[in-house]
Amino acid sequence: MQPHATDCVAVINAGSSSIKFSVHRLPDLALAFKGRIENLYRGATRFIAQDADGATVGERSWPDALDHHAGMAFLIDFAERELAGYRVRAVGHRIVHGGVDYSGPQRLIEPVLERLERLVPLAPLHLPHNLAPVRALMALAPGLPQVGCFDTAFHTAQPALAQAFALPPAITDLGIRRYGFHGLSYEYIAATLPQHEPALAGARVVAAHLGNGASMCAMRGGRSVASTMGFTAVDGLPMGTRCGALDPGVVIYLIEELGMEVSSVQRLMYQESGLLGVSGLSSDMRTLEASSDPRAQLAIDLLVYRIGRELGSLAASLGGLDALVFSGGIGENSARLRAAVCRDAAWLGAELDPGLNAAPPPGVARISAPASRMSIWLVPANEELMIARHTRDLLEEA
Ligand code: ADP
Repeated sequence: MQPHATDCVAVINAGSSSIKFSVHRLPDLALAFKGRIENLYRGATRFIAQDADGATVGERSWPDALDHHAGMAFLIDFAERELAGYRVRAVGHRIVHGGVDYSGPQRLIEPVLERLERLVPLAPLHLPHNLAPVRALMALAPGLPQVGCFDTAFHTAQPALAQAFALPPAITDLGIRRYGFHGLSYEYIAATLPQHEPALAGARVVAAHLGNGASMCAMRGGRSVASTMGFTAVDGLPMGTRCGALDPGVVIYLIEELGMEVSSVQRLMYQESGLLGVSGLSSDMRTLEASSDPRAQLAIDLLVYRIGRELGSLAASLGGLDALVFSGGIGENSARLRAAVCRDAAWLGAELDPGLNAAPPPGVARISAPASRMSIWLVPANEELMIARHTRDLLEEA
């Protein structure tokens, strides 16, 4: 592939209530634009786009809620106007689930899309939203290559034991096993860390991606070994509104004894629990940290406690720990949470540099004290760049 001066790849990350996008120049993938449409389906929908320097290049809001289709139509129209000087060579999509079939990025051609549509029951809250823009673009620009990058793919490297539930094979064979998610974020961290500390290339690393969704992943030599999310993205840590790991007996009790509808249990587990459910206040860490309400503190304490428990478990899966990484909106920004997690992980040899933790330099930063037995890092999440890399690489192979 011989890149044209203004050739670029676009990245789309479509969630249940937002579409994030970014545009990266080829071949170096320097960011040209990024933006998002937020609040789909929920009252006033907003759009904002910025250039690489953070200057706003587009802004709009609608009095009523847009749906995904209307959001994509607006984005395509915006791109045609604003990106007139660019040629979009391919579009990469973040796709939550690749099932057992896809251990790496895929060209989204019709048979692949059909297989992915059969996986919708595995991720009914996310996958349809991921696939909707693919279909929309296929209709609008049939010749434009589209690439699917899967949150599960990075974890397909895990040992079979780490992927297994203790269930009979007839159930396992139906695809009921641990998949793990946030794989694009962990893949980016695995690729980035050795650039800053070459000695970590073969190391035992636990990364915590702590955003509205939150999980942790154990990696050895840059490959996933174990993760806290399992069959679905509700497992593991408490999150903004998801409960995280729950004794499965609770679900049966809620349905059988309390007479809850399955849909109500699902809403409870995905939208009414986690930081929001425990605090009764908010799913937003900033609001909880600013609150003097003891329930806000309890929600934070529970998150810190669960991170500590999972850290011990993941360290056991690695037989020790050389580095701990914080990422995602909470991991990157909450010095208080990092301090609490590392205080509890002192038994593993974790020791923060308090000054660096409180005021880390921008970008990838080592924040551990020189005496710490493991190095502790901040790596700003960049799933978009990982998707752009995969998309460029598949385009070059074609
Ligand atoms: P998503 O999973 O939707 O991509 P993010 O990675 O943006 O989410 O993380 C959102 C979370 O990060 C929210 O709980 C938010 O409160 C938290 N967060 C963002 N900035 C800060 C901050 N300065 N201090 C504490 N928490 C923060």
